[in-house]
Amino acid sequence: MLKTQYDIVIIGAGPSGLATAIATALKLNLTILVIDQNSVDQQRVGENIPPETLLLIQQLGLKDQFLLDGHEPCPGFASVWGGENVGHNDFIVNPYGHSWRLNRHAFDMSLVTKAKSLSVDILWDTRFISANKVMRNNQVSYDLSLKTPAKDTYSVQAFFVVDASGSKANFAKGQKVKKRVDDKLIAIVRFATLNQAHKGKQVRIEATANNWCYHTLLPQQKVVSMLIAEPSDRKTLENKAYHAFKTHLEGTDWVGRQIRELELRDESYHTYLITSGMLEQVEGDNWIAVGDAAASFDPIVAQGIYKGLQHGILAAKVIISTFKQEETDFAYSDIVEKGYRHYLDNRAHIYQLEQRWPTNRFWQKRARIPHELTDSIS
Ligand SMILES: Cc1cc2nc3c(=O)[nH]c(=O)nc-3n(C[C@H](O)[C@H](O)[C@H](O)COP(=O)(O)OP(=O)(O)OC[C@H]3O[C@@H](n4cnc5c(N)ncnc54)[C@H](O)[C@@H]3O)c2cc1C
Repeated sequence: MLKTQYDIVIIGAGPSGLATAIATALKLNLTILVIDQNSVDQQRVGENIPPETLLLIQQLGLKDQFLLDGHEPCPGFASVWGGENVGHNDFIVNPYGHSWRLNRHAFDMSLVTKAKSLSVDILWDTRFISANKVMRNNQVSYDLSLKTPAKDTYSVQAFFVVDASGSKANFAKGQKVKKRVDDKLIAIVRFATLNQAHKGKQVRIEATANNWCYHTLLPQQKVVSMLIAEPSDRKTLENKAYHAFKTHLEGTDWVGRQIRELELRDESYHTYLITSGMLEQVEGDNWIAVGDAAASFDPIVAQGIYKGLQHGILAAKVIISTFKQEETDFAYSDIVEKGYRHYLDNRAHIYQLEQRWPTNRFWQKRARIPHELTDSIS
């Protein structure tokens, strides 16, 4: 039976929202509700995580489950980027070992199951609509308006709100917090199943004249292939059942070489908008933003899930301190800001390595150094 009042309401059941719920519930007995506008079975994107993520998974009490869930090792990235030869970025000197190719559904379900085992309520197919800040017993709290699957409006009181709603940051925007946006891209993504098992373990990346592509084999004979392009190319790539997307991928030298060997079935196509950006304020009166809601990255760095879990674990410390009326020994906003600055430098470095098409808009735009970026505020 759902309550009408919770200590904490978390908007978004992605990695950052569920990590916040788990890390909080592991330490303090509070009532927590997580809501998500989509269903528990939604197809989520993001399947490669860096080796260090295992440390965060361990802090969430999920390492044993993770090692049982059939995720597969990824020894490194093999990319054609900045030249015609294949370059290798392996994890052999990383003290935490290799990176991982996730069975994404199993990973998501391990977070859901852990949260539920800690008495966290989760409401699927329920959309956050708006929030009103109110004073109760001289303390800030929020009245949240939610839309349920039956399209009824449901109202819930929260003493603390976590915005884990992804890069749109729905709650923070409703509190009139603006987002600095440094870049916008689209990803056209194909998920499919292989007819026959294949031994490839590396992620393949390839830069082409007006975009770049990514391809990797996943556990359970799944495969994901994607093209990262300018938003203005969306219609062309999606047209005629993704004809231009398929032709381009298959025609690439390195990524296409593996794709041409594979027999696929159960193909599904999705388009995602990708924003590089950060909220101007990531915490306020009894609220905090985590994961992509706080700061969203280009998938070239493959750090979105790591960042989501890291923010969730840190946000839990902020929440616990708030309930215990104590000070934290770190500044969450500074950590998010430093992480975003570091990401911008890293991203510029990666794009600047590709100099074969210096006059092409796609590469020109992304090679700008961070302080040259013209911020737009949304
Ligand atoms: C094409 C692509 C490839 C990527 N590849 C990788 C990768 O290989 N490795 C990696 O680490 N990262 C990758 N990422 C990034 C990664 O997917 C994200 O950084 C990560 O999912 C962020 O987690 P999150 O929990 O913050 O947000 P999300 O996973 O976006 O979750 C937000 C949740 O909030 C819900 N929501 C939104 N609005 C509302 C609302 N109004 N009411 C209720 N619920 C709401 C959504 O349904 C969603 O479930 C990739 C991203 C893209 C687009």
